[in-house]
Amino acid sequence: MRFDILTIFPRFFDDIFAHGVLQRALRNGLAEAHTHDLRHFTHDRHKTVDDRPFGGGEGMVLKAQPILEAAAALGITPKAERDPRRETVILLSASGKRFTQPIARRLSQLQRVTLICGRYEGVDERISQLLCDEELSIGDYVLTGGELPAAILLDATVRLLPGVLGHEDSNKYESFGDADEGGLHNDTDGVPRSTHGSGGLLDYPHYTRPADLAGVAIPPVLTGGDHLAIRRWRREAALEKTARNRPELLQKAELSERDREHLAQLGFELEKNAL
Ligand code: SAM
Repeated sequence: MRFDILTIFPRFFDDIFAHGVLQRALRNGLAEAHTHDLRHFTHDRHKTVDDRPFGGGEGMVLKAQPILEAAAALGITPKAERDPRRETVILLSASGKRFTQPIARRLSQLQRVTLICGRYEGVDERISQLLCDEELSIGDYVLTGGELPAAILLDATVRLLPGVLGHEDSNKYESFGDADEGGLHNDTDGVPRSTHGSGGLLDYPHYTRPADLAGVAIPPVLTGGDHLAIRRWRREAALEKTARNRPELLQKAELSERDREHLAQLGFELEKNAL
C-alpha cells in the first residue's frame, strides 16, 4: 500500500516514520509513505504556496495550482477515472467527515492513498472539487495544519495491514472493533470468546507488573488463573468504561442479556444514554 502526502512541511513526518510499528512496516515494505513538498511545484522566486482569499477576510489560502501540479507529477489517476476500490485522494479538513475506525479499515484495503495537508485558512475549494474523493476530519477541533491529521490517519490505517502487528488478532480485539469481530457470536457462557471488550465497546483496562503500585492493587481475578472469570471481568470492565466515557456507543454495541443486567446494576439506562 502506498501513501503520498502533499504538504508544505515534508520534514514533519521524519520522526513519525522513524519509530515503532510504523517504522517496521515501512522498512519491511508492508507500506510505503512518500512526502512531497508543495513548494517544489511553484514557479516564482519565493516558492509561494498561499494567496489572499477572494472576497477578503482573515488569513491566507493554500493555492490550488501547486497541489494540482504535484498530483499530476505523481501520476495520480484523474478523479473521473479513479477506481474507489484501489485508490483515494483525501483532503484533511476540519470541516470534513469524521475519520473513524471503519474508514481506516476501508482505506487499509486500498493500494494507494493520497493525503493533502491544508494550512492557513484552508485549501482552495477547487482542490476538493477537482482532485479529492473525500474530506476527512480527525475531530471537532481546529489544528494549525493537516500534517498531524494525515499522520494519524496513516498510522491508524497502516496498523491494520496484514503482517504489521505482531499478533494477527491485535487489531480486532480493541476499542472500536467490529461487532462481528469478537462480538457475541463468539459467546460462551454469556461471555464473548475473546478476552476483550470490543464488539462495539471500548477496550477493557490493562495491567502489568507490579501487582501493587503505590497502594493500588490490580483486580485479584486477573491473577487467579480462572480464564472464564477473567473474560467476564474484562467484559464488565469494558462495559463500565464505555458507559463512563462514551455512553452513546452502547446504543450500537452488541449486548447480551448479561451485559444489559450488568449495565442496569451500574445504574446505566440504555434509553437515556447516560449513567
Ligand atoms: N478555516 C478552517 C476551518 O475553520 O475549518 C481551518 C483551517 S486549519 C487552521 C488549517 C488546516 O489544518 C486545514 O486546511 C486542514 O488541513 C487542517 N486541519 C485543521 N483541523 C483539522 C481537523 N480537525 N481534521 C483534519 N484536518 C484539520
